[in-house]
Amino acid sequence: QENKKIAKTITEVAGLANYLWQKGWAERNAGNISVNLSEMMGDSEFELEHYPMFQLERSYDALANLYFFVTGTGKRMRDLAINPMNNACIIKMNKKGNAYHIISMKKRNLYNFRPTSELPTHLAVHNLLVSTGSKNKAVVHTHPNELVAMTQIPRFQTTEMLNKTLWGMHPEAFVFVPRGVFMVPYILPGSHKIADATIEGFKNGHEVVIWEKHGAFAIGETVSDAFDMIDILSKSAQIWFMAMQSGNEPEGLNDDQLLELKEAFLKK
Ligand code: 13P
Ligand code: ZN
Repeated sequence: QENKKIAKTITEVAGLANYLWQKGWAERNAGNISVNLSEMMGDSEFELEHYPMFQLERSYDALANLYFFVTGTGKRMRDLAINPMNNACIIKMNKKGNAYHIISMKKRNLYNFRPTSELPTHLAVHNLLVSTGSKNKAVVHTHPNELVAMTQIPRFQTTEMLNKTLWGMHPEAFVFVPRGVFMVPYILPGSHKIADATIEGFKNGHEVVIWEKHGAFAIGETVSDAFDMIDILSKSAQIWFMAMQSGNEPEGLNDDQLLELKEAFLKK
């Protein structure tokens, strides 16, 4: 039963990896994905000493003993789509939450495999999700072209300005991403500093964080849910550029129209 759920999750990740490649958002090794598998692992007991341990620079208290599916650094999304278990791994955190064991790979395959370089952000986000009892188990990072292009434009480099424009391009953007994105100014990829800046956004209730001149990070109950958020916003960005290319500044939905959407779709 448990194994079936894990297999289903991994198949979903592989399907998403294919989408990301088809979308043109996954050049070379771009993007990374992680999913908290702990609830699916049942009471599986692992003789952890059989699996190599990797020390982390920080400890993630809420993640002690938990299991994650994590994509590998330098691995192609288009390869992940075909062979997820060679391009990603399952890790088990140690009991202090400051190291992990790779439990899904043969030792001889480990010489050229490590989890994503964005592990600091993935683990920081999961740490927040677990410690707040969130239902969200999936974290997706990708490089959506149009959204990244928007962050190259100085007037969209704030959370307020970017959201106002993205919400105004089509109703779904406001209805399905009502909290909008959180904008993180350019910071070195793979750093603890970008992890810290990113969790500020998720702490404030955003489900999508945009990294200036780089990409997007989204959370969801499943990887498909996380992808949907980015996809809807990416459509907004595409509409914005299409209107601009036609020589017209898009009007955007006005405040009354956004309010009307709020009353129709977001009132509890
Ligand atoms: P990894 O190959 O290490 O996952 O890095 C890809 C990426 O998008 C970095 O931001
Ligand atoms: Zn990236």
